[in-house]
Amino acid sequence: INVSLSPVLNENDRTLGALLVLRDITREVEADRMKNEFIGTMSHELRTPMTAIKGFTQLLAMGGLGQLNDTQREFVNTIYNNTERMINLINDVLEITKIESGSIELEWRSLHLAEALSGVIAELQSHISQRQHQLTISIPPGLPLIRADAMRLHQILYHVLLNAVKYTPAGGKITIAAREILNVDFPEPVRSILHTNHRYLLLSISDTGVGIRPEDLPRIFDRFFRAENPLKVEAGGTGLGLSIVKPLVQLLGGHIWVESTVGQGSTFYIALPVAAERA
Ligand code: ADP
Repeated sequence: INVSLSPVLNENDRTLGALLVLRDITREVEADRMKNEFIGTMSHELRTPMTAIKGFTQLLAMGGLGQLNDTQREFVNTIYNNTERMINLINDVLEITKIESGSIELEWRSLHLAEALSGVIAELQSHISQRQHQLTISIPPGLPLIRADAMRLHQILYHVLLNAVKYTPAGGKITIAAREILNVDFPEPVRSILHTNHRYLLLSISDTGVGIRPEDLPRIFDRFFRAENPLKVEAGGTGLGLSIVKPLVQLLGGHIWVESTVGQGSTFYIALPVAAERA
């Protein structure tokens, strides 16, 4: 049941009484649950045949069924790339239904941020080298551990770093930094959202990429939103990455925000709560 209570005032702002509204939302919640379940099942069912198509296309591309001529190879590669895009999209949708239905179970651990980062960087290394990005990591030794779920942390870092790579032209710079910070040091309005005086690690991922227009900034965490920018076509994507990242950061008790200047670059900040014990 959804409850709301508001005062009823007369024209002199004197309280006449109170208005209590009780709304039975059982049907809405049930409809939402059914919608999520349907999307979840559909996505699972789609993933199986897509995985088969991907496997056989890979076999073809590698010449497993005989040598291909140039045109054939180009077409097979196109099928492969699109299949992979579709599988990524399905995985993202599955992830969103999990987040929305509240069925994500977190495995809380004390983790080294630097270790989590190096795993993600290793995974993205080929993209980084391909685009000849200059990657600088400045993480001081002895930072406290964070309290998080390793898999979710990986997903968060992966999406944000992949975006930095995607939206930064070849030869650009990507800088990753981290430091310990108290909530009171945060900019408003972030400060009021987080617990007072709790210790956080503040991770920043900066790039010298295309940047985000001020009017687009509030929308980049929305589902399927993709800003107009010169790299959009080349960069590929679904517009779902950040809409998954934001609720995951919040599930971990943290906060994510962004500062950006068009043509100069963007910095994504991620604050995550520090674990009780020291590194
Ligand atoms: P995708 O990258 O798949 O389009 P995301 O949800 O990850 O989706 O990002 C949403 C949009 O935010 C992107 O399409 C892009 O316009 C913008 N964006 C995200 N990260 C950056 C960045 N580092 N630099 C510039 N624009 C960015």
